[in-house]
Amino acid sequence: MGRYTGPVCRRCRREGMQLFLKGDRCFMAKCPIQQGQNPPGQHGARRRKLSDYGTQLREKQRLRSMYGMQEQQFRGFFAKALRKRGITGVALLQMLEMRLDTVVRRLGFMPSQRAARQFVMHGHIQVNGHRATVPSLILRAGDVVRVQEKQASRDEAKAFLDAATSRGISPWLTLNKDEFRGEVLHIPTREEIAPIVNEQQVVELYSK
Ligand code: SF4
Repeated sequence: MGRYTGPVCRRCRREGMQLFLKGDRCFMAKCPIQQGQNPPGQHGARRRKLSDYGTQLREKQRLRSMYGMQEQQFRGFFAKALRKRGITGVALLQMLEMRLDTVVRRLGFMPSQRAARQFVMHGHIQVNGHRATVPSLILRAGDVVRVQEKQASRDEAKAFLDAATSRGISPWLTLNKDEFRGEVLHIPTREEIAPIVNEQQVVELYSK
């Protein structure tokens, strides 16, 4: 199956929570979740009790939607997390947060995961001084992410930087706005990653 290209707010409505897929609009009253809109579909308003499997599936879909990943790629990330030391669910979240497109978004160079992914793929980003075009690249502590020195690249990032930085930068990153440069200080702890999902449910789903 290809990448989802339909209306993104529909995904939030399906999950019944804000997944922040649209940038600034997500912080406005126009957000369908803030307006209390129902899940999509003819029977969207019907309340159904979810089975254990259903709950686990929804948690996984939430996480996958938040990071804009396809099932196969997401499973690949999970397999890598499984091989890491420590708690698998936390390792999975850490890997998702350390993806290059996620860091570009967290630094405020782009307003959403989808836009950040495209920005990276179009060659606007450097990692440690080299052009990087792979959004799923996993960064390490000490890596430096920078917007290319081209006017077009910087103009594009500048349009979003102010709004994003006014909301604050993640504590494991630093940002030099004037130089369009950010650095990964350390791998985020579970407490530093917003408690957006119950990652243990995802582990249980994939461990069946
Ligand atoms: Fe989700 Fe943002 Fe749309 Fe609200 S505006 S439903 S948070 S994508």
